[in-house]
Amino acid sequence: MHGRLPLTAQTHRRLVIKVGSAVLSGPQGRQHQLAIAAQVAALRAEGREVVLVSSGAQATGMQKLGLTEKPKSLPSKRALAAVGQPTLMLLWEQAFSWYDLKVAQILLTAEDLAHRHRYLNARQTLETLLAWGIVPIINENDTVMVEEIKFGDNDQLSALIASLVGADLLILLSDIEALYDADPRTHPEAQPIPYVERVDAEVLRMAGDSPNQVGTGGMKSKLLAAEKAQAAGIPTLLLPGTRPQSIAEALRGEPVGTLFAGGQRRYSGRKLWLYQLPKPQGELVVDAGAARALRQGGASLLPAGILEVRGQFGVGEAVKCLDEQGNLIGVGLVNYSAAELSRIKRRKTRDIEAILGYKNTDEAIHRDYFALASELE
Ligand code: GLU
Repeated sequence: MHGRLPLTAQTHRRLVIKVGSAVLSGPQGRQHQLAIAAQVAALRAEGREVVLVSSGAQATGMQKLGLTEKPKSLPSKRALAAVGQPTLMLLWEQAFSWYDLKVAQILLTAEDLAHRHRYLNARQTLETLLAWGIVPIINENDTVMVEEIKFGDNDQLSALIASLVGADLLILLSDIEALYDADPRTHPEAQPIPYVERVDAEVLRMAGDSPNQVGTGGMKSKLLAAEKAQAAGIPTLLLPGTRPQSIAEALRGEPVGTLFAGGQRRYSGRKLWLYQLPKPQGELVVDAGAARALRQGGASLLPAGILEVRGQFGVGEAVKCLDEQGNLIGVGLVNYSAAELSRIKRRKTRDIEAILGYKNTDEAIHRDYFALASELE
């Protein structure tokens, strides 16, 4: 048995707890929800702060509309989330009212968090709610989701939120109880792994790729979330959400579920945020001088150094910077859209205004919003 240490209110004060759809749906769903609210209330009474990330809008929408099968089309899924989200929140509100706790709803998209000022605004809102003693409940804003740039699932969102609020611990409550060393359905001898020091390639392999195995699609996304949290120095607990008291047990140091160590904080501030950004939407090919200045000089990227603009992107979005040989230099946020950069590439800074009729900034990408490939590995 692995001797896991207690995660006390002194050392692990601010928690992000993510609740999966499977935990909240089904005949036991409401019981689980009430029991989770009880756990959160107990954590708060210990002096901890809790941010909830709750899935279940679409599942609740299905129940309300009496659907037995989830629709396939994106517009239907978006609409289903719109039907289910208010009820999901109402149920949370009722559950927390037993403990005199108030809740707040926050709906976010990946795009929101990709914009630095929206990211900072979201953080301020969360900080304010926590200071007011309210339990923020976050879900992905499925009503406007775009498949390619969605968070993927709320596991990833919860890892981003954990670093956004500087959480001391991320808890994933799922119908998956723990990480196993093999698929427990096909390998009855499979053992749960109580502690993972580092989420590396070997650990990720344990999850497999097929969405139908245990330790699978679902597990992979848990591991990717744990990896993201680990990069921010935040430990992750994967616990059986069908047994919410497992939260208290795990915090006491009992080896329930799987604890992924927080490890060394690899990134902070803007670099962390760049590392966690959704996939860059475009590419800029830069000349040798700009490549050198970005790699060695700690410089910003000026329009003059840009040879080619690929893809469609707007101001504030993430793009890859490539050298002429096609090697990745790094990722940054652009101050101009693809259309604007196509017009001002290879041109001197002093000409920008004459060409566009205005100038946002001298730099196409400011250094503060750029991270080298080596920094993002
Ligand atoms: N945002 C989705 C919902 O609330 C999450 C679905 C899921 O990850 O299970 O339905």
